[in-house]
Amino acid sequence: MIELRDISKVYRQGKREVRALDGVSLRVAPGEVLGVLGHSGAGKSTLIRCVNLLERPTAGEVRVEGRDMLALAPRELRHARQGIGMIFQHFNLFSSQTVAGNIAYPLAIAGWPPGRARERVEELLALVGLSDKAQAYPAQLSGGQKQRVGIARALAPRPRVLLSDEATSALDPETTRSVLGLLRDINRQLGLTILLITHQMEVLKEICHSAAVLERGRVVEQGKVIDLLARPGTRLNALCYAPFAAAGWPVRPGGRLVGLSLAGDSAAQPVLAQLARRFGVDATLVEGTLERVGGVPVGRLLVELTGAPEALEQALGHLREQGYSPEPVAHA
Ligand code: ADP
Repeated sequence: MIELRDISKVYRQGKREVRALDGVSLRVAPGEVLGVLGHSGAGKSTLIRCVNLLERPTAGEVRVEGRDMLALAPRELRHARQGIGMIFQHFNLFSSQTVAGNIAYPLAIAGWPPGRARERVEELLALVGLSDKAQAYPAQLSGGQKQRVGIARALAPRPRVLLSDEATSALDPETTRSVLGLLRDINRQLGLTILLITHQMEVLKEICHSAAVLERGRVVEQGKVIDLLARPGTRLNALCYAPFAAAGWPVRPGGRLVGLSLAGDSAAQPVLAQLARRFGVDATLVEGTLERVGGVPVGRLLVELTGAPEALEQALGHLREQGYSPEPVAHA
């Protein structure tokens, strides 16, 4: 649905050059939600703005629904942009227009007849749960309501792609959850493809199927959210989980502290009981988290394993084979 090939973007400020993007390639499949994560200045906004050509890349190729965006004439580009909605951190609503007026705006631009546009606005107000606010002005709305208006406006011309630039960053946690719930429903019901940028892990865990991590204009990590979260050593894993802190844990003589990663099937196995039954190795729980990400259990455990040295080695081999990625944890 979206394909970026080897995108670079250089901003020139007088004699200074800033390479905001440096050879970025990304693909977002139809119906997929891909989250781009990265520190401030990593190039996230530039990247997302290259998709609808709010920024023109210095080099590379941008395809949306197979169309070569950089080859389009201005009129064709305006038309293509109607298939790409966008929402923003600070909502970017027209303060002098009502909620209904804001949502109707892109329809007027796209030349919808007023009657059909009115019907569409009503449909959208219902979709985002704001039917009673049609005549309110943005200043009379909460942050969450403003973003719902932003979403309704972005969806008005029935885009197939939604770009989201930190859409929940200015919202409190509860409102963030409700806006994320709305985006997830829209993704599922309308099959909308979503490319979003965020610095909130919660956003990735709640609605993203895949993730890309951007650092200094380059993609340094990319994959399915669950796979990246569950694998020790990835940036996503490090961002999500603090290092194990076994401070003060009284390791028994011969005992070993081992971190285990759990995801999907591996989280559903009675792994600790297996260690006891098959290898005579006892596992004591020291720390752990287990949560559902996209409906799949993901988490990790810190256990102390005790048993005969040979049995311990066999148990560790078994854990490795079964995908628990056992890691020795130093005793603090
Ligand atoms: P992020 O969204 O990850 O914070 P940006 O894409 O906004 O990153 O910025 C990436 C880099 O490009 C930064 O160094 C930023 O200062 C620079 N930059 C962004 N927009 C412009 C611009 N219009 N002119 C010059 N430099 C810019």
